[in-house]
Amino acid sequence: MKKLNFEMKVVIKGFLERLSQQTKAIFSKMGLWRSKNLLAISWKSPKFLIGTMTFVLVISGATIYYSGTASAAYIVVNGQKIGLVESVDKGQQIVDDILTERGQAIGKAAKTSDVIAYETVRVKKIELLDVSKTDNELHSVLSSYIDGYALEVAGTQVAILPTQADVQTLLKKYQDYYTKPSDNNKVLSVEFSEPTATKPVEAQPDQVKVLDQALKELIEGKITTTEYTAQENDSWWLIARKHDMKTKEVLAGNPGMTEDSKIQTGQKIKIVTVSPYLTVMSKGILTSTETIAYDTVTTTDTELDSGKTVVKEPGSEGTKVVTYSYLQKNGQDVSKQVDEEKVIKQPVTQVVSKGPELTAVALASVSRGSKSSTGIAWPLRGPINSPFGSRWGSVHTGIDIGGSTGTPFSAAAAGKVISAGWSGGYGNMILIDHGNGVQTRYGHSSKLLVSVGQKVTQGQRIGLVGSTGNSTGSHLHFEVILNGSTVNPLNYLR
Ligand SMILES: [Zn+2]
Repeated sequence: MKKLNFEMKVVIKGFLERLSQQTKAIFSKMGLWRSKNLLAISWKSPKFLIGTMTFVLVISGATIYYSGTASAAYIVVNGQKIGLVESVDKGQQIVDDILTERGQAIGKAAKTSDVIAYETVRVKKIELLDVSKTDNELHSVLSSYIDGYALEVAGTQVAILPTQADVQTLLKKYQDYYTKPSDNNKVLSVEFSEPTATKPVEAQPDQVKVLDQALKELIEGKITTTEYTAQENDSWWLIARKHDMKTKEVLAGNPGMTEDSKIQTGQKIKIVTVSPYLTVMSKGILTSTETIAYDTVTTTDTELDSGKTVVKEPGSEGTKVVTYSYLQKNGQDVSKQVDEEKVIKQPVTQVVSKGPELTAVALASVSRGSKSSTGIAWPLRGPINSPFGSRWGSVHTGIDIGGSTGTPFSAAAAGKVISAGWSGGYGNMILIDHGNGVQTRYGHSSKLLVSVGQKVTQGQRIGLVGSTGNSTGSHLHFEVILNGSTVNPLNYLR
């Protein structure tokens, strides 16, 4: 009431000031103010004057009142007057604007459960100059919510979205993120390990997420931070082990720390773990085109310098289409098996020629200075009945050169006979040492023409072909031995 009285006084004071000015104006228009007749009239005709003045007073009073005041409305929220606005419509507009603005980020207007009423009044115009105050006040007073839809995973609310369709899309996109269906990846079945549900909720506007944001957070997983108090002799590795984590995962939760950072007993260590909110189990068939590596066969070519290689026939990779069936958990294979493998293109084996090994160089030097040739010469001309290498589950340590019994064979290179006589499966055998770690052996001989300690030259007759010892027919078994190991004679013969 006090305020009202004060306002009334202000109004009356203002009214009287304006009245005297307006009266002056009216009187001056009538020419009375300046006229000497004024006094005569006023004194001679008081009734006229009073009537005129009353008339002027009523008209100008009303004019002044209506030109100085305006209709307005108070916004009343839950029974509490918040402030003035120009009109009820304007007030409703402000409320609508606030609610729209609050839901703008998610594309859905917010609602309020506040009781909003309007009280129409007439106020001085000056009071309406500062309606932004009402706007601000309303922003802080007005409560609001969004009609949203919550995604629940195993009974726990995980995300709130504007619409039910958004929740369904979120679940679909989350599945697609892990299953990545495509022409090459037929997803046969997909399901969540946890039960999911969609429920309508009234949520604070900032709790509601747009689809992309909700998907991002769902994929990031649930981040849980706990605190661990370091024990005596703890190390980053040990702390990680205690929490079933990797050392770098523990360090990631403690910025500024490295593996070398010292840990004090009693120090608080943050344990930040990430676990998925939702698990996607998927089964499918994956078809992938894969390359088949080619093999490389290397043959020794004594024409080449030692260590030098030449590609004789370039190899090329093959192609195959492999079909797998798999079971995945959030995109990671739980099991995967090959159903089918179809070769589209066979690989082509690469053939490489390689210069002789260093030991072979030593071999070549055996007969250096010999007039006839260098290296190792054929001890006998004839077909190779059995090559060097694997044979019937064991290794054939030389080559078998076919020849009829009694045909002479010769020393492959110059050297000294270090063994000549019967030697188990070799039958009658000759072993010649050529120096530099190189030896040659001759087996199954029917007759020996040299004896131990004898020096021989390349091409010198040393025995006759036979079938003695472990032999199935008449032939010469010939070995080349480098530093105690048999090698393929064909790589050294010339
Ligand atoms: Zn043999």
